[in-house]
Amino acid sequence: MSRPAFAHVDLNALRHNYQLARSRHGGRALAVIKANAYGHGAVPCARALAPEADGFAVAVVEEAVALREAGIGGPILVLEGAFGADDLARAEAFDLWLVVHHRDQVFLFEQHPPTRPVPVWLKMDSGMHRAGFAPGHFAAAHEKLASLPGVGEITLMTHFARADEPDELATARQVRTFDDATAQLPGARSLCNSGGILGWPRAHRDWSRPGIMLYGADPMPAEGHGLEPVMTLGSAIIGVRELPAGEAIGYGGRFVTERPTRIGLVAMGYADGYPRTAPDGTPVAVDGALTRLIGRVSMDMLMVDLTELPAAGMGAPVELWGRTVPVNTVARAAGTIAYELLCNVKRVGFRHADGPPA
Ligand SMILES: *Cc1c(COP(=O)(O)O)cnc(C)c1O
Repeated sequence: MSRPAFAHVDLNALRHNYQLARSRHGGRALAVIKANAYGHGAVPCARALAPEADGFAVAVVEEAVALREAGIGGPILVLEGAFGADDLARAEAFDLWLVVHHRDQVFLFEQHPPTRPVPVWLKMDSGMHRAGFAPGHFAAAHEKLASLPGVGEITLMTHFARADEPDELATARQVRTFDDATAQLPGARSLCNSGGILGWPRAHRDWSRPGIMLYGADPMPAEGHGLEPVMTLGSAIIGVRELPAGEAIGYGGRFVTERPTRIGLVAMGYADGYPRTAPDGTPVAVDGALTRLIGRVSMDMLMVDLTELPAAGMGAPVELWGRTVPVNTVARAAGTIAYELLCNVKRVGFRHADGPPA
């Protein structure tokens, strides 16, 4: 037998969430599978979505090439665009779409013109101030690109800084800035990530770009959008001990038993991606029942309180997050976001299946 730590990826839930994103937004949806599909495995997720997805988005050309080499067809958009002439050449060779967010990327198209036109998504900085052309420079960048024979169809895009805050006027301002600066320009539009799809119907245009919602981690968890959790991070109890009150457990003795305590050792640690910052009390499910993390998470192991679960012994199944413990709950407890927890999962065995864990 091998170490019981695993990440189960429910491909039916992934497809359900993709359909929900697309129908909620309307138009076409690029499934965002950058960063190894937010830690879920880019190739198996792309294969599962390929029959229904309108296309995919990744961050860098290497991720896109890996998908093509695994036999994934259809549009693949590279969200950071080309870093150099080699990226531009690969975009042409592998039939990719490129974001253009900076004038250096326009120069690349001028200096190394592809022989077959490469479709471009021209990005505006409508207020996030991270990447993209300022609204006042956007039309000129569009005109320049449109004049270049190596540039194919141009789609207009922007990205929101605060779409997951439903009452935040910053998003409304970004939409207005984008609409005003593109009013005279032809081409399809794309504004919405998951937060925009779920919270900003006025921002829905031709294309959406759902990421985190595909994986069932609702960016606005209070709202009940009907997403299904995709990843179960699981393991098993690999040790049990009983201690009297007043014993410090784990590194730094962070947790001290308040009563006679039965402690379960779990094969899961921060080297697997479970957050070291998770405090005592973070929910963990053992045999389907909720209990709590106690003591500091170490590299390969963590400990849980089994005092109230006398039937749970060696080999009992443990869910760190999944259907019983939402990944958003663990993220909040650990002071981070579900995006980061999911991207960090590694070393554990991955299982991709058409349904939840048995
Ligand atoms: C990552 C990313 C997305 C997906 O965002 P989510 O919040 O995960 O839905 C969409 N658009 C761009 C430009 C991105 O970089």
